[in-house]
Amino acid sequence: MSTDLTLEGARARDAADALAPFRARFALPQGPDGEPLTYLCGHSLGLEPLAARTLVSEELDDWARLGVAGHEHARRPWIPYHENLTAGLAAVTGARPHEVVAMNSLTVNLHLMLASFYRPQGARRRILLEAGAFSSDRHALASHLAWHGLDPERELIELAPPAGADTLGAEALEAALDAHGAQIALVLWPGVQFRTGEAFDVARVTRAARRAGCIAGFDLAHSVGNVPLALHEAEADFAVWCSYKYLNGGPGAIGGCFVHERHSAAQPRRAHAGGIPGARLAGWWGHEPETRFAMGPRFAGSPGIAAWQISNPPILAAAPLIASLAIFLEAGLARLRDKSLALTGYLEALLRARTPQVGIVTPEAPPRRGCQLSLRLPGAGGRAVFEALGARGVVCDWRAPDILRVAPVPLYNRFEDVWRFVQALTELLRA
Ligand SMILES: *Cc1c(COP(=O)(O)O)cnc(C)c1O
Repeated sequence: MSTDLTLEGARARDAADALAPFRARFALPQGPDGEPLTYLCGHSLGLEPLAARTLVSEELDDWARLGVAGHEHARRPWIPYHENLTAGLAAVTGARPHEVVAMNSLTVNLHLMLASFYRPQGARRRILLEAGAFSSDRHALASHLAWHGLDPERELIELAPPAGADTLGAEALEAALDAHGAQIALVLWPGVQFRTGEAFDVARVTRAARRAGCIAGFDLAHSVGNVPLALHEAEADFAVWCSYKYLNGGPGAIGGCFVHERHSAAQPRRAHAGGIPGARLAGWWGHEPETRFAMGPRFAGSPGIAAWQISNPPILAAAPLIASLAIFLEAGLARLRDKSLALTGYLEALLRARTPQVGIVTPEAPPRRGCQLSLRLPGAGGRAVFEALGARGVVCDWRAPDILRVAPVPLYNRFEDVWRFVQALTELLRA
């Protein structure tokens, strides 16, 4: 990469970027001057694909036109609606189609996965997660422990980085599993840690967990649509994610879930008695579609992860994701990752050259990060700098006490956006 760190250099990079035209497929929030904001906040809420409006309108039109008949006769019939998302979700997670489903939201899916996969037995009952995990994940885990009559304060192992370090590394996790593995029933691990931006190798984490006899589950909220994933090959047990961050599915969009095929294959699809076969919480939408509407008392599960569905899906919260996943497939996941590495590498180079006083918490090695860099601002005025960035039309995110999270997203961010951010940061730190 050229070392030209001027605005003209950024513009030259944009001019040479084959993915640059995808920016025009998104609605770009504007500042009071009518200019697009420098939006580096795709880690919190991805931007709206323009095609989302068309898809949602079509569903509203079909509802108006057809009423209940839309279940079967809408242009995208509502009964099998989740199937519109299967190929895209399989591609972005590296799963087989019967291993992924769009349903519910992240934390709800985590609860459903814990109901199936957290099976404390004897001395093996603890849960391993990272210290400083996203609150919702910790709440979900703690509540499952309590649900089983266990004490979360005793049974949760929260792995912190070594003294003086900001990030964990897979070695720390492997050491913890070597030391405590026999007591651990389940590991819930991030694909990308939300605060530090540290990415983990799902295959390596899974191998370490399975070697210790533990279930390996993943929260991919900050991974999906951001870093390459190969969940099937990695043999992860389960994974959950939301779709409103890098997947650009819209606020409160339908979430996603992965269960490796070896688990769904092992679940009996039919119960001998009138109960629910297998270890999962059930509802009518997990029932095989052929006989679902016979409304019989006996549950017969759909093949694959579809059996974990509970309710009929929220069509209006799923339609934008169809639009967004189509863009991912069109742009190409490998090309997006290549641009992402270039954008984030450029951000890092600019920061090192122009604001050397800013610490970069996120690991430097490309396989150990996605697009986000977490920055530690010097001194006590970090929050004021964050607010001043906002006043200048630069949208990023502040995590108290001292972390600024910045995510240049390859689908809609430009090298110029990165340049503008560092320019604003440089001026504010000088002031
Ligand atoms: C964004 C995020 C969530 C959000 O959970 P919802 O159930 O979608 O509200 C949970 N966990 C992590 C790690 C996240 O990054």
